[in-house]
Amino acid sequence: MAKAPPDTGAHPDPAAHQSVLAASEAHASRAASPPATEEQLPDPARLANMLQRLSEIAGDGEGAVSRLALTADEREAHRVVAGWMADLGLTVAVDAFGNTIGTLPGQRADLPALGIGSHLDSVPQGGRFDGVVGVVAGLEVVRLLTSAGRQLQHPLKVIAFVGEEGARFGEACLGSKAVVGQLQPGDLQRLRDADGVTLGQALQALDLDPRQLPSVRWAPNELAAFLELHIEQGRLLESEGKAIGLVEAVAGNTRLRLRVLGRADHSGGTPMHVRRDALTAAAEIVLGIEQLAREPRRRTTVATVGRLDVWPNSITTVPARVTFYVDVRDVDGDRQREAAQDILTLAQQVAARRGVGLEAEKVGDSSPVVLPLWLRQRVRDVCNRLGVSHRVLNSGAGHDAAILARLLPAAMVFVPSHQGLSHCPEEWTSIADIATGVRVLYHTILALDEGLLENNG
Ligand SMILES: [Zn+2]
Repeated sequence: MAKAPPDTGAHPDPAAHQSVLAASEAHASRAASPPATEEQLPDPARLANMLQRLSEIAGDGEGAVSRLALTADEREAHRVVAGWMADLGLTVAVDAFGNTIGTLPGQRADLPALGIGSHLDSVPQGGRFDGVVGVVAGLEVVRLLTSAGRQLQHPLKVIAFVGEEGARFGEACLGSKAVVGQLQPGDLQRLRDADGVTLGQALQALDLDPRQLPSVRWAPNELAAFLELHIEQGRLLESEGKAIGLVEAVAGNTRLRLRVLGRADHSGGTPMHVRRDALTAAAEIVLGIEQLAREPRRRTTVATVGRLDVWPNSITTVPARVTFYVDVRDVDGDRQREAAQDILTLAQQVAARRGVGLEAEKVGDSSPVVLPLWLRQRVRDVCNRLGVSHRVLNSGAGHDAAILARLLPAAMVFVPSHQGLSHCPEEWTSIADIATGVRVLYHTILALDEGLLENNG
């Protein structure tokens, strides 16, 4: 590994680097110097090459990736990763839902596996790092073990989950929900994309078998522990100059669908005072939601209206109907649901005052997840031993690890996001920072392989 240039704190403009590798060479590392003893270190060029290759699948060549859940593009990414898994000597399996799992045997087949993984899909016009970082990290950990000639006691599984982003079907973490049994056969018909394609139909179109959904489910002891390396998608680490974020809790979310019912009228012939304009009422509600979420007492609550459908959506017609979605998130479940309830009350008040109708429906509700303390402390101990700077933080975004945490011990390790940008072509994390994350993961796997045996015999 080439010696990293001194950290100037300056990041290159991501747009100026079309290649992930070029960005890596231009950027400095936050990592501490490697210890004097011979240590297997992640190879930045390998990491960059894998990320570059994946960014070319449904990428526009300028940083944007549109590799939506359960599409041929996502399958292509899974095939590429499966090829890399096989090259590393892993036994590759694809379950009926499309999750790709590569297994490295341990010395003891009776032990549950350790797991590393994340997802390969993106949002429309998303970035090159969200998800894929956690999968290539797993592959690099396997390579480090192999080149060090080490065989773990536990098997090690590298896992690429399907459909983590909720962008296509409105529900996130589909692959990880399938393995923990949180996705029911009814969901295959219930969940539809914007074109009306159901989740079940999407699976079938990719030669996956939705009828086998129950077979995808894992036993509770499938993994002894799961680690997900992910970009922060926030700006805490960068602003504090920390290399690693140790996630304490992952926010839950409550999603509401609100429909404001006004009356269509001619935009020229209808005086202002007799209108029942659904859009101006919706606008007042949207601004009220922003104000409500900003109240100091809410602290960690965030609320977003990101989609609004106006009907008939005509320049010369007073809007008759507006349907919009509210996404409320918090790491405190009580606050999350209280905010959602307060938003409903606010919407009802605005609708009554403006003489428009209101229909409200809760379309999603998931609780925040606190990740297990002991596992986070293992990662923290590794950071301390390696001299890697770190801090504890929460995740506002949902992740596969939070879903798995309902079944088994899971930890999330964040690496810095440049300016906190994510879900956009400007999303960028330096290869040096990713390599630091992989180094922490590698040593955590080694520590767990020993430590879990001491605990369990
Ligand atoms: Zn992600």
